Amino acid sequence: MSMNRKEFLKRLGFLGAGVFLTPAGGLGSVKSDEIFQPPVIEKATIEYEKIRLELFHPWTITRGTAQYKENVLVYYKRDGIIGIGEAGHMTAAGQNAERTISEVVRLIPFYEKVNPWEFYTISEQVRELLPDLSPAKAALDVALMDWIGKKLGMPLYQFFGLNPNKTVDTSFTIGVDTIEVMKQKVKEAEVYKIIKVKLAGKDNDRDVIQTIHAMTSKPIRVDMNQAWQNKEKAIIEVEWMAKQGVEMIEQPFPIPMIDETGWLKQRSPLPIVADESVETSHDIAKLAGAVHGVNIKLMKSGGLLEAYRMIILAQTLGMDVMLGCMIETSAATSAACQLQPLAKWVDLDGPLLIQNDPFQGLVFQDGHWILSRKPGLGITKKS
Ligand code: MG
Repeated sequence: MSMNRKEFLKRLGFLGAGVFLTPAGGLGSVKSDEIFQPPVIEKATIEYEKIRLELFHPWTITRGTAQYKENVLVYYKRDGIIGIGEAGHMTAAGQNAERTISEVVRLIPFYEKVNPWEFYTISEQVRELLPDLSPAKAALDVALMDWIGKKLGMPLYQFFGLNPNKTVDTSFTIGVDTIEVMKQKVKEAEVYKIIKVKLAGKDNDRDVIQTIHAMTSKPIRVDMNQAWQNKEKAIIEVEWMAKQGVEMIEQPFPIPMIDETGWLKQRSPLPIVADESVETSHDIAKLAGAVHGVNIKLMKSGGLLEAYRMIILAQTLGMDVMLGCMIETSAATSAACQLQPLAKWVDLDGPLLIQNDPFQGLVFQDGHWILSRKPGLGITKKS
């Protein structure tokens, strides 16, 4: 005998506190308290913790090098389900774990009182409470969305309507160093299919690329980090790079130089992708026509929903999408990977740089990330 509607919904967990029972033939007769959503039973509690990520290689910062990085994990707890989120930091932008914690603490009372099913409105309201660029927003948004996915029993890629089998190879960044050290790094990057290098617009830029290109036939992506100032010089360099295995240029000019970026894009044999010029969806429209693509990062957008909105908007305006990251665990990277099927370029090497990823579920294989088929972000803490 087949299940009746009530039994079916009960099995799905949709019938608890008198929620959702459409009267037979009752179109238009749904009462205001009969909402189609799994019931929320307990109050939310939100916790956070600072974690220390040990790096495989010292990481160059303005005042020297660092052996570790501090990120903040956020947990949205409700009804026996824990949603996980993470904040990674752009140290150069003055971000750090302490600042993130103070922002998380500021947002916790808001997150604890709102209806989690209104997650779209929540992310809008958070932007009003905390307008600045903040990884704390990303951590809370991702924790809530992980909880939503788990509550629905659905991986987030499925929630967004995406095919997880559509994977994209990620690039792996090699720091600029002495020629000897760089040779060593290229060797160590054996398992990655694409090399990324950050250049500073200095005299040795060509040497760096030649060194890498001489050692490997892998495609090279060049991140100029706003270093070029002159468009005529830039096009000469880009044309040269195109003959040296370079496949893409990231953020060639300082943020205000949109016209020069558009000029370069018209002439460039390689795709030009904006990074620092793009934080949220508000930055997308003005770049239309000036770049081939935009680098979207959860720590810039403030979470998954805004990142998704940015992708839709960028693609609508004829731009391709790159997904980028900070130094982070597979919690934040799993979140970004939920949107991987929408990306043309992926630069998610964060978890590959650290020795003590506390999570499992996201697997790196054949040069790309493979998502777990479990609900939400699909990750769990290693025991
Ligand atoms: Mg960049």
